[in-house]
Amino acid sequence: MVYRIAWIKGDGIGPEISEATLNVIEALESKHNLNFSIVFYEAGDLCLSKRGTALPSETVEGFRNADAAIKGPVGETSMDVTVKLRQIFDLYANIRPVKNFPNIECVKNIDVVIVRENSEDLYKGLEFEIDNIAFALRIVSDYATKRIARVAGEIACKRSGLVTIVHKSNVLRKTCGLFSRVAKEELSKYPVKVNEMYVDAASAVLIRSPEKFDVILTTNMFGDILSDEAAQIAGSLGIGPSANIGEEKAFFEPIHGAAPDIAGKNIANPYAMILSFKMLMEWLSEKKNDQRLKEAAYTLESAVVEALKMGYKTPDIGGNKKTDEIGHLLHKLIENL
Ligand code: ATP
Repeated sequence: MVYRIAWIKGDGIGPEISEATLNVIEALESKHNLNFSIVFYEAGDLCLSKRGTALPSETVEGFRNADAAIKGPVGETSMDVTVKLRQIFDLYANIRPVKNFPNIECVKNIDVVIVRENSEDLYKGLEFEIDNIAFALRIVSDYATKRIARVAGEIACKRSGLVTIVHKSNVLRKTCGLFSRVAKEELSKYPVKVNEMYVDAASAVLIRSPEKFDVILTTNMFGDILSDEAAQIAGSLGIGPSANIGEEKAFFEPIHGAAPDIAGKNIANPYAMILSFKMLMEWLSEKKNDQRLKEAAYTLESAVVEALKMGYKTPDIGGNKKTDEIGHLLHKLIENL
């Protein structure tokens, strides 16, 4: 069985971290007898300047026809590419697991999954300006809250079974009020414990006592901010993967941006992109009921752990290795695992 993967390399460090990931995938294919047919598509800032559009229609069609998709970061066109793709394919669940890896200096020990509603809130992009006053509409629906609460419930059942709903219903009484009420109703159908916390308190507790959280369920913008904070508690943005998941489609991406300040220097941390591919294989494994993909995901994570123990780290996490050296080492480790 050949799996079709649509791939956007993206801007800034996107091409470098993509190359390192592709090197690793080659080794996984031979080891686990897998066959990925990878097709590259353009999108992002460079694409906009070259072609006049940040998200060409063939890229959208490529995503539509693929079994799964992965993208590197895009720069200023994130709203036109990342947010647009989420909207087109109704990828309503943004899943960001955050945990420590060996040999990476961290703020605290942390092991949480942030489940962020990905289709509504202020990121719906409904903004306008009248008489020098700018407005943004915040949308939170019963429908979207229910379906994201179910995702959090299912994930929590496979973990320690605690969901913390993060909102700000004391101020945003309608939007956050609905989110809190509907999420609690939906989660009452799962064998999980449910807590609630205001977002300002949650951001403080996340730094002080991250062990108080297991699954964090929150709205789009709060989730965006809390997940960068959580990634930094684990050590770096450069190791954080994420998934954008809908009923049928999904794409995976590192949580960091295009990092133009270090682009082209071969020092970008490729682990977030590599671990995003791991999440892709786990998702595809369930979808296609293919155990080989799950095993390949396990192999990949074991190789990452081993590489970090060996000190294969880029400067952002205190090492001096190059992006491509990490790709080569992981390739070798996977061959020998
Ligand atoms: P965005 O708004 O798209 O998230 P940003 O400029 O706010 O973009 P990043 O591009 O993620 O944020 O960069 C923030 C900082 O983190 C920069 O100094 C960048 O060099 C660093 N950084 C981000 N990703 C990586 C990575 N993979 N490896 C090393 N450093 C990184």
